[in-house]
Amino acid sequence: MKKIAIIGGGIIGLTATNYLDTDKFDITLFDDGLGQATKASAGIISPWLSKRRNKKWYQLAKDGAKFYQKLIEDFQLDETIYKKSGTIIIRPQKNLDDLFELAKERLIDAPEMGQVELLSPSQTKEQLPLLKEMPSLKLSGGGRLDGLKYLEKMSQLASSKGIQIVNEKVSIEEIDGKLHILTKDKREEFDYLILTVGPHLKDILLNLGYETDIRPQKGQLLSFETNLKESNDWPVVVLDGEADLIPFSEGNILIGATHENDGGWDLTPTEDAYNFLTEYSKGFLDESKSDELLSSPSDFRVGTRAYTSDFAPFFAPLEDNEKIVAASGLGSSGLTTGPYMGYLIADYFNNGNWDTEEYQKSISNYIKKKNVD
Ligand SMILES: Cc1cc2nc3c(=O)[nH]c(=O)nc-3n(C[C@H](O)[C@H](O)[C@H](O)COP(=O)(O)OP(=O)(O)OC[C@H]3O[C@@H](n4cnc5c(N)ncnc54)[C@H](O)[C@@H]3O)c2cc1C
Repeated sequence: MKKIAIIGGGIIGLTATNYLDTDKFDITLFDDGLGQATKASAGIISPWLSKRRNKKWYQLAKDGAKFYQKLIEDFQLDETIYKKSGTIIIRPQKNLDDLFELAKERLIDAPEMGQVELLSPSQTKEQLPLLKEMPSLKLSGGGRLDGLKYLEKMSQLASSKGIQIVNEKVSIEEIDGKLHILTKDKREEFDYLILTVGPHLKDILLNLGYETDIRPQKGQLLSFETNLKESNDWPVVVLDGEADLIPFSEGNILIGATHENDGGWDLTPTEDAYNFLTEYSKGFLDESKSDELLSSPSDFRVGTRAYTSDFAPFFAPLEDNEKIVAASGLGSSGLTTGPYMGYLIADYFNNGNWDTEEYQKSISNYIKKKNVD
């Protein structure tokens, strides 16, 4: 049986792990911190009206959101993990009218967007009483994913299938064409590697002589534990600008996230982020409710996103070594695109299928062999 290693147990790595065929492969997952970006994420799955103009990205994000239906069925994800909560988008009325037209156009190819409705200020507040009265656009097909719960579920499933999970930081080496993984006290040979280490891809590929176009970006969000138990039924709110409001069950409400390019790898919560996110969200919250929300116990979630120079993600076999598949650069939409990428990577190994041109540029745009003088 061929041996395959997945390095990186975030949303791509753990999804790929669970879709790989255990009758064909002896599978090991290596991870040193269970999905650092995935578990810090806000959880919004609603890509259809993004301002991004990259067509390949849109195709991937749209198909990624559609893929959730299959994901839920294949792994029996309950509503504590993924819920089709609906999305409310807050903008000035003129922009909402334009977005409404765009939504009607895109709905033709993306029926999973659900019902599209312009809401009056009072209707918006009825949907989520924490908000001020503001006009909005509602998409009933939007959803929210609890990244940490997803990873926990997928780790348990993998273990129950006999897949080995090794909690360690590893490096890789290639000697005479053979791929090796190095842990603290062991070197092990594998036939195939799946590298899903987020922004760490650059370091891990350096050992094999590759240069990778990836940089880290710090993201912080606030998690409030409120008494607002009806939060489970509220939609996700995409605010106009920097941050969003994401209600989860049992009164848990997230506000975020920041996009800090100069924050790099730092995972320390900052007062600046707290002040920015609370002040920013006050602009959208009903004054009589904002105190209750913002004075409840809160905690930070901090993660590092991975970005490429053109902000597009990639996932593909390396051009000069098809035994290694690398995926990274998911940026701020990786919960939306990641599971589908994981599925397509597993399909490549299980069945040899690979046809992803509509989703991405060639991987040689992002990963190149280093020139040795
Ligand atoms: C604050 C924040 C909010 C976000 N909100 C959203 C959102 O609302 N919607 C959305 O779609 N996306 C969102 N994202 C983006 C999304 O979370 C990421 O794009 C996605 O989770 C990336 O998944 P990944 O599997 O590539 O990497 P990760 O989840 O980072 O997983 C990579 C794993 O590899 C491990 N690793 C790295 N190097 C090694 C090594 N050498 N050996 C072993 N293990 C290693 C890491 O420890 C980690 O566990 C958000 C991100 C952040 C930070």
